[in-house]
Amino acid sequence: MSDASLRTWNFSSGPACLPLEVLTRCQGALIDLDQTGIGILEHSHRSAAFGKVLARAESAIRRVAVVPDEYDVLFLSGSASMHFHMVPMNFLRPGTQANYVDTGVWSGRAIAEARRVGEVFVAATAAPDFRSIPNVPAWSPVPAYVHYTSNNTIYGTEWASEPNVPAGVPLICDASSDLFARRLDVTKYGMIYAGAQKNLGPSGLSLVIARRDLLAQANTELATLLAYQTFARDKSMYNTPNTFGIFVMAEVVEWIERQGGLAAMETHNRHKATLLYDSIDRSRHFRGHANREARSLTNVTFRGTSPEAETRLLQKASAARMSGLEGHRYVGGLRASIYNAFPVDGVVRLAQLIDEVDHELSPVS
Ligand SMILES: *Cc1c(COP(=O)(O)O)cnc(C)c1O
Repeated sequence: MSDASLRTWNFSSGPACLPLEVLTRCQGALIDLDQTGIGILEHSHRSAAFGKVLARAESAIRRVAVVPDEYDVLFLSGSASMHFHMVPMNFLRPGTQANYVDTGVWSGRAIAEARRVGEVFVAATAAPDFRSIPNVPAWSPVPAYVHYTSNNTIYGTEWASEPNVPAGVPLICDASSDLFARRLDVTKYGMIYAGAQKNLGPSGLSLVIARRDLLAQANTELATLLAYQTFARDKSMYNTPNTFGIFVMAEVVEWIERQGGLAAMETHNRHKATLLYDSIDRSRHFRGHANREARSLTNVTFRGTSPEAETRLLQKASAARMSGLEGHRYVGGLRASIYNAFPVDGVVRLAQLIDEVDHELSPVS
């Protein structure tokens, strides 16, 4: 199965496709990690062999994303959604407001969790159809932080650049579906978090990059595992971390580095996204969901102008060994998730199928 031609084109939004090269290395490490005679699932997290894996993951992330020394890189066993609650618990103090920009389902969930903790100010919303990234007219009087979702996996919209926040206000980002898919300036953020299963590895693991002085101001009265400081102080090893997930992440980030890093990922992803959006735009039977200026690089959302167009495309896709193209249940339509590891050949093929369906439904004489 290490032959790429035997694999299905997997357009799943997450868990999503991983580089075949990485999967092959995982296969080997399951039986024997670095000639220790012990597999990655079997090594103690306190072993020297796993220590090397953790160090590799952190240093690859620091190199690829140019993470400055004053930031911690943390690995948490728990998904992106866990941070919806952890962020306000750690950083929202009485007398301050948590500022959010509502750009879709995931930011909506983050807002709902913050409301359980304290005062929330929704500075702008893209509701009800979530086709755009809203302008933010103003933030609240005493912002504890500003939280936004850089890429809206379900609606297929993405921020072109970070929102401007007042000096001294930490910017916190859920980057679950576009972290390391394009260039990144870590210094603009107080904290970035991402679930691993879109671009970085398996589900059930999240990556946090956070400025140390922000972590130092966090609430100290929290349960141990809900405090980011625990993970910073004990180097993500207070409890047993997701050792396998961290191994996969190390492999994925080193793979990104071999491809040329984030700038190369961005070029590659922009190329793939352009191929698909162009085929949608030239068709008479498909329409993109997101407004042009808000289009996502990693999640291309679109729909047929008739149910027949969608059915035909899905039939052809399935015959071409493609999967995962149905849109999210909240939005319907179609969605092609084309993260870093998704090969350009599969995108070219899908763009051809869109052209074919379009031609069949209204042949040009
Ligand atoms: C997938 C996703 C989540 C949720 O991830 P879980 O691992 O299910 O918690 C949160 N935010 C964004 C932007 C996502 O794409």
